[in-house]
Amino acid sequence: MVYVSDVFHKKKLDSKKINIKTIYLVDGIRYERNTDGSRDDNINNGIRVKKEYYLNNELKHTEHEFDTRIEYSFVENKNSDKNYTCPNCGMTAKLKDFNGGCPYCGTYYNLDYQEKDLGSKKYYDRVLRNKSYRIISAIIDFLICFLITYLIIKNTSRTFNINDIYKIFIFGMIASLLFYYVFYTLDAYIILGPIKRYKDKLNNKQRLFWKKSGLDKVTFFNNFNYEVRKYYYNKKDVIDYDVIDFDSFKDYVIKDNRYIEVEAYIRVVNFDGDFHSRYIKKIFRFKQNKNGTTELSNDTNVMMCHNCGASIDVTKSKCEYCDSEIKYLQEWILDNV
Ligand SMILES: [Zn+2]
Ligand SMILES: [Zn+2]
Repeated sequence: MVYVSDVFHKKKLDSKKINIKTIYLVDGIRYERNTDGSRDDNINNGIRVKKEYYLNNELKHTEHEFDTRIEYSFVENKNSDKNYTCPNCGMTAKLKDFNGGCPYCGTYYNLDYQEKDLGSKKYYDRVLRNKSYRIISAIIDFLICFLITYLIIKNTSRTFNINDIYKIFIFGMIASLLFYYVFYTLDAYIILGPIKRYKDKLNNKQRLFWKKSGLDKVTFFNNFNYEVRKYYYNKKDVIDYDVIDFDSFKDYVIKDNRYIEVEAYIRVVNFDGDFHSRYIKKIFRFKQNKNGTTELSNDTNVMMCHNCGASIDVTKSKCEYCDSEIKYLQEWILDNV
């Protein structure tokens, strides 16, 4: 069964015969969802821990890096197992056997999840994303241990020859391995203080954004992901993406139009016969949709074009028959890409 939120991704992956298996954890229990529909568990506030990419049922690529502060919910339609009668042609079948619409007359059902959270950032933390802290600790550790070993050997041996250089090297190595943890924690006091203060400043900025903007978090993140999915899955080689972190949010008005700018750190997975992932920082600008939105219920939504009466696919912006504009699904429309 194809839900409105998944339609762009599903189309893309089916065309390339790729299945993505995403492993979720909810309270320590493992669940999975597959884009080929082979097993789709309901997820309630789960975190992603792993993604496996299959090409023609063969595992080709794996991703492990996810942000545990971002939670996902996918609760399938309760009625998916029940019979549904097409309001257009009268054909009756189970909703889950449909591909988002009536297989006989092509009427769009516009199904959505009973509940969904396509990835909201739930918590803030004080740890920096990059690994440089550990590397800096190791360098400081090595330098100081070698210096101390050098000073000890220089001052205790009467002659200084090649053997002493070996000694410095060996003892320096041993000392730096022994003391790494000490330096790691010591640096935490020296280096991490300013980092924590810096992160707190950023976190406060984000808290303030949510307070002032008046936006509902889940609704906005769903909107964000719907638009970003649409953007990436319409690109030629992109087959998947994950938000690794949301860095900043801005809210501003230009000439009576309200904009929201989201800076995010994203992993994009490309497929050109092989799978490649890359990490990028990207600014997404959203413009507020002033024309009103189409509200979808959490069930089937059969809608007709106001002009010609044809069945409407809400993921499109126009009626396929008469080209009349359809009220768009989302309040915030991706604007800068
Ligand atoms: Zn039908
Ligand atoms: Zn029409």
